[in-house]
Amino acid sequence: MRAGPSLDAVTRPFVVPTGELFRHRGSRQRVTLAGPLPGLALSASRLTGDDVVADLVLEAQGETVTLAGTVTAAWEGECRRCLGPTGGVLTVELREVFEPDAVEGETYPLGRDEVDVEPAVREALALALPLAPLCADDCAGPDPDAHPVAIEADEDDDGESPVDPRWAALDVLRFDR
Ligand SMILES: [Zn+2]
Repeated sequence: MRAGPSLDAVTRPFVVPTGELFRHRGSRQRVTLAGPLPGLALSASRLTGDDVVADLVLEAQGETVTLAGTVTAAWEGECRRCLGPTGGVLTVELREVFEPDAVEGETYPLGRDEVDVEPAVREALALALPLAPLCADDCAGPDPDAHPVAIEADEDDDGESPVDPRWAALDVLRFDR
């Protein structure tokens, strides 16, 4: 049996009541929050309308709440080379502190009897959205025969530089594979 979601869970899915949390010193609470976060977008990538899921552990420490966990969200966008559709799933680790008198840029505000984790979740996802997505690491562009795309080593953020097909033959000679 599943109780219907409260109005709060529908309209403010990323708000967690903190009454239980502060009842016992150092107590922890694990929560899984899910809801859409509209409007999170860069020029070439954005969140889909699907629910963002936050799997978090909240811990009361004095007057503050420490939050740690993982946020997962689906994104979509346009490949920077071929302009075709691309997308994927963002998984972001989150560790933030909420306190009554938040320090701009360091901590987030803590309400009297609830904590709104949405600003922290939004900020983490905005930083994780790809600025210049690719549909595939070796995307050859819209018309590889007429306009071959030079694949630059520094385009890759995972540190693996794709082998330019023009040099592949040389690699074979050099390493005798
Ligand atoms: Zn592409």
